Amino acid sequence: MSDGIVFIDGEYMHPRDATMSIFDTGFVWGDCVYDVTSTWNGWFFMLDEHLERFQRSCEGFRLENPYSFEEMRRICAECVDRSGLSNSYVKMQITRGVPPHGVRDPRGLTPSVVVYAVPYVWIWGEDKCRNGVSLHVSSVERVSSRAIDQRFKNYNRADLVQARLEAYDNGCDDAILTGADGFLTEGPGYNFFIVRDGTVASPDYNVLEGITRRAVREICEREGIPFELREIRPEELSEASEVFTSTTAGGVMPVTGINGTPVGNGHAGIVTSRIQSTYWSEREAGWHGVRAGDILAS
Ligand code: PLP
Repeated sequence: MSDGIVFIDGEYMHPRDATMSIFDTGFVWGDCVYDVTSTWNGWFFMLDEHLERFQRSCEGFRLENPYSFEEMRRICAECVDRSGLSNSYVKMQITRGVPPHGVRDPRGLTPSVVVYAVPYVWIWGEDKCRNGVSLHVSSVERVSSRAIDQRFKNYNRADLVQARLEAYDNGCDDAILTGADGFLTEGPGYNFFIVRDGTVASPDYNVLEGITRRAVREICEREGIPFELREIRPEELSEASEVFTSTTAGGVMPVTGINGTPVGNGHAGIVTSRIQSTYWSEREAGWHGVRAGDILAS
């Protein structure tokens, strides 16, 4: 299988040759926004929605992308096309750039744009993503959207990493974090959902507005499953009949345990399985899809 293709500031290369300055403020200050889309069976999924969110993230962080929307679209397609991968993980990122020595002014730097297509990533491995993970409700507080607006997808993820380390310490696969207001938010790389009395609910604040979450909502609406975005209290996790998560890198993923206690009967629930199987069968068929070759030919 191909290792993928990386684009950095106008050049395409093999991942082993992809390097950046250690002085880029993307690393030094976490001054970076990014987005991740994917292809499955050769089809990009909701590519324009990801590009639009990336644009909003750039604006939110006052990062000026030298490439237009259409150019970003073609660069993503070019990476996928050159990689030869049909199932791929496609990341785009922009860092503010390298300031002259001793300069602290973030204005006027030359940003770096990186895009790459690498083999598709399952955040917990395919088996756990499809069949279930155990999550830990973290004592680490999610950084407030009043400090860093979490609708902008960014690299300030130290809270998420600490939460994951704590989850491992507690024998769980990953975490869900609570916000400063006491309501649940999201996990390191995914939105989450509870199912109560047949209604699917997901937090509405202090979260990334996931593109997969949008797909889950669309499936629910189409299949007549009530769906709501609202505040969710930590206690509701144990009151829920089902819990699941969603992300680009894994799709719709059942949660079968919380803090060491099984959710429901400890297996993926009926509503979760229905949404998951619709998601994957639709993706196979090119739902909300466009092919790299068609973008490049247009
Ligand atoms: N929340 C966070 C913090 C994320 O990093 C991600 C994806 O990486 C998500 C949610 C899910 O977003 P999407 O469905 O657009 O991949």
